[in-house]
Amino acid sequence: MIETLQNAIPSRFDQLKLAPATLHNLEQLGYTQMTPIQTASLPMTLAGQDLIAQASTGSGKTAAFGLPLIERLQTAGSPSAAIQALILCPTRELADQVTQEIRRLARARPNVKVVTLCGGVALRGQTVGLAHGADVVVGTPGRILDHLERGSLSLAGVNTLVLDEADRMLDMGFFDDIAKVVRQCAKDRQTLLFSATYPDGIAKLAAQFMRTPQTVKVQAQHSAHKIRQVFYEVTENQRLVAVSKLLAHFRPERTLAFCNTKQQCRDLVAVLQAQGYSALALFGELEQRERDQVLVQFANRSCSVLVATDVASRGLDVEGLEAVINVDVTPDPEIHIHRIGRTGRGDAEGLALTLASVDEMGAVGKIEVMQGRESSWEPLSGLTSAEGAPLQPPMRTLQIVGGRKEKIRAGDVMGALAGECGLTREQVGKINVNEFSTYVAVQAALAPKVESQLLHGKIKGKSVKARLL
Ligand code: ADP
Ligand code: MG
Repeated sequence: MIETLQNAIPSRFDQLKLAPATLHNLEQLGYTQMTPIQTASLPMTLAGQDLIAQASTGSGKTAAFGLPLIERLQTAGSPSAAIQALILCPTRELADQVTQEIRRLARARPNVKVVTLCGGVALRGQTVGLAHGADVVVGTPGRILDHLERGSLSLAGVNTLVLDEADRMLDMGFFDDIAKVVRQCAKDRQTLLFSATYPDGIAKLAAQFMRTPQTVKVQAQHSAHKIRQVFYEVTENQRLVAVSKLLAHFRPERTLAFCNTKQQCRDLVAVLQAQGYSALALFGELEQRERDQVLVQFANRSCSVLVATDVASRGLDVEGLEAVINVDVTPDPEIHIHRIGRTGRGDAEGLALTLASVDEMGAVGKIEVMQGRESSWEPLSGLTSAEGAPLQPPMRTLQIVGGRKEKIRAGDVMGALAGECGLTREQVGKINVNEFSTYVAVQAALAPKVESQLLHGKIKGKSVKARLL
């Protein structure tokens, strides 16, 4: 059912028809080998072919569609030049991730303007931004439609249209919005559809909007030897407490815990926080700002346990997780494969722990069939009970008021932390500059002092407001 194109050739970027400056940039980014989905799709996407590509999160899909659209850009530098590429994404943070990756991939090409259009930000500012010219637009279907209806956006010059995370956009009920947006794009265009799974709606999208698309699928690469999977039988009463037993026993630095419902997420976070774990919940109904803060804190190592629903976590690029815990067994074995694929990337062995009640044994059976092997079970009683305090995250996050709108850059923040607080690069973690806020991770022990020092500090000549999250 799933083809593996792992060994398809070529696997080096320099075997593709890419501009020398692009190849040089890829080398500088540390992209030496193509990922499997890139190997499978780039020869076709660079040749202008319509394509449906299915691969799991973190497999490098952005470059698979980003490189061909960048290669095709005409940057005359005229501010009124038409938008040449449109990338539709399900959520703002995914659109932000894609925008950042496209900017990195396009660094070798001067003056490429990439504009993000998503909700949660005033329309008027975006309209002004568009008036200054854009080559590539990345956005959510709803907001793009708003701009089309107001006449502040024209897609007549779009020669590459990308539907990224198409399954998730369909989950979120965007089919009609997507259809309306696509009808406004130039007829003579390349259409690329990327998805982690392949629900029915995808075929419908393809039939309506793509021209004889090719299909490539790359199986999630994690296999038995890269991920250690252990199952534990629990009763409903034991389930949440069992999670903290697993954390105390394995002491993973970062864990993604999946629940089937948002209520379960809330309940588990309450249990873990009460026991002194740094745990945060991620589910569909959070406000955008809350979501941003949760994601930033998990990614920058200020939070040890992220408790999430499948929909909320899909498509997020969190790498190098020590452990995934399936708090509930998912009824869909393909989702199980995606969940556990979040751990054990690169050379590190991952740990996937699943709690299953008697009622869930049917779902476990489906997972065994899908994986082609029996699961290995251990008793909860075999876990060593917690000695000492829960493992604390190494970093804490400071939120600084002001972001891209204030033209703050990561370098400015590092400059202030070095200048005002005497911090070295090693004491500072990830710096995320969002639209209106900047988040910076600093070593946990130093964080309170940095917060008070920053009260008197300046960034770009302006006093700053900073607080610990
Ligand atoms: P996906 O969209 O499939 O979830 P992304 O496009 O976001 O995956 O890529 C995941 C991560 O892998 C990103 O950090 C990206 O910079 C990195 N990446 C992509 N392609 C390569 C490559 N060929 N070599 C090294 N890193 C890569
Ligand atoms: Mg992606």
